[in-house]
Amino acid sequence: MDLAEKLAILADAAKYDASCASSGANKRDSRDGKGVGSAGGSGICHSYAPDGRCISLLKILLTNRCIYDCHYCINRRSSNVRRTAFTAEEAVTLTLDFYKRNYIEGLFLSSGIVRSADHTMEQVVQVARTLREQHDFRGYIHLKTIPEASPELIEQAARYADRISINLELPTQVSLDRLAPEKNLARTQQAMGRIKLKLDEAHDRRKNGDRKLRHATGQSTQVIVGADDSTDADFLARSDVLYGTYKMRRVYYSAFSPIPEPSVVLPVKAAPLVREHRLYQADWLMRNYGFSTSEILPAETPNLDLRIDPKLAWALRNRQEFPLDVQTATRGQLVRVPGLGLRNVDRLIAIRRHTRVRLEDLARLRVSLPKVRPFLITADHHPARYLLDSDRLIDRFLPKPVQLDLFDDENR
Ligand code: SF4
Repeated sequence: MDLAEKLAILADAAKYDASCASSGANKRDSRDGKGVGSAGGSGICHSYAPDGRCISLLKILLTNRCIYDCHYCINRRSSNVRRTAFTAEEAVTLTLDFYKRNYIEGLFLSSGIVRSADHTMEQVVQVARTLREQHDFRGYIHLKTIPEASPELIEQAARYADRISINLELPTQVSLDRLAPEKNLARTQQAMGRIKLKLDEAHDRRKNGDRKLRHATGQSTQVIVGADDSTDADFLARSDVLYGTYKMRRVYYSAFSPIPEPSVVLPVKAAPLVREHRLYQADWLMRNYGFSTSEILPAETPNLDLRIDPKLAWALRNRQEFPLDVQTATRGQLVRVPGLGLRNVDRLIAIRRHTRVRLEDLARLRVSLPKVRPFLITADHHPARYLLDSDRLIDRFLPKPVQLDLFDDENR
C-alpha cells in the first residue's frame, strides 16, 4: 500500500475523534530563523464528521489495527475495515511535508492499540520525539495517550506534546462494561491523575524561571454522547470530577453518529447535535459562571431541556430569584441572568457607577432585550410579577411555530 492510500485510510479513521482543538497551547514560532513551523498564522487543515460537523484537524492514526473491541469504534477488532499502519518515519515525513506546504498547523496523533499499550505508545512517542529532536519541529502536537501504557511513556509523550489526552468515552463503568469492555474508568482516571501531577510540576518549573522547559500544558478528554442511555447528569457529574480533580482543560462532548459496520448494541440513529450543544453550554456554565451540576440538573431532571439553553432553564426553575435590579444586584447574581454574559456584566457594573442603567444601555451592549426583560429591573423597566410567574413564560423563548405552506413543493 502506498503512502497516499495509507493516508486516506488512517485520516478517515481518525476523524471521529473530536478532542483535538488546540486552544490553550503555548505559541511556538520560528522568528529566530531556526526550526520548522510556527503555531500562529499558518494554514489549518479541517476534517468533517459524517454528520457534516467540522471537527478541526491535523490528525491521523498511526494504525487502525486494534486489539480492543469498543463497540462504538470503527477500528475495533471485530470491524470489517481495511487495516494499515504508518511507520513512525512515514508519519514524520507526512507531517513535515504537509506542514511545509502550509496545509496543517501541527499534528494530532492517535492510534489503535497493537500488540500492547506500551508497544503502541512507544511508536507514538517516537513520532513526536523525531519531529521535535531531529527536525526541530515547532508546530503544535497533540498526542492521544493510552491509560494502560507505562507512566514513563506517558511522561515522555507529555514532554514532546503541547496537549495530551486520554479519551474517557463514556461517563460510568457500567456504560464502559457494555460498550468498551476492555476499558476501565478507575485506570483511566489514575492515568489522568499522574498526568496532572506532571503538568503541575512543569507549571511550577516554568513559574520558577525554567522557560526552556518543553512539556505539555494541559490534558483533555472526549466522551461520546448518545451511544447508550447515559444521562446528561451522568456526563456533567463526570466532567465535574474531571475538571475538579484532574484539572482537565476541556471535556469534549461528541454526539454519537452511526459508523459503517455498526455493532448491534448501538443505536441506529445519530444523537441530536443540539444535545451536544446543550452539554457544551452547561459545561461552560459550570466552568465560568459558578453553576454546580445539581443547579443545572436537579435530581428530578436528569437530562437538559433541548429547547432552551441551560441558564434560561435554571432561571425558569428559580423565578423567586428574579427580577433583579441591575443597579444593585451583585456580579454573582447578574451573571445568572439569561442573556447576560460575563463581559456584559462587567460593562454594566462599570456603567452603573456613573448612571442609572436603562434598556437602551443594554441594547447598546447588544444584549438580547426579549431575553433579559422578564428578569431585570432597569431605570425605565420593571417586569410584571404575573409575567414572571406565568406558566407560559417559556413560550416567549421558543421558536415560533411555522404554518406549513400547502403549495410548497417540499410539503406535498
Ligand atoms: S481502543 Fe481505541 S482504537 Fe481500539 S477499539 Fe477502542 S476506541 Fe477504537
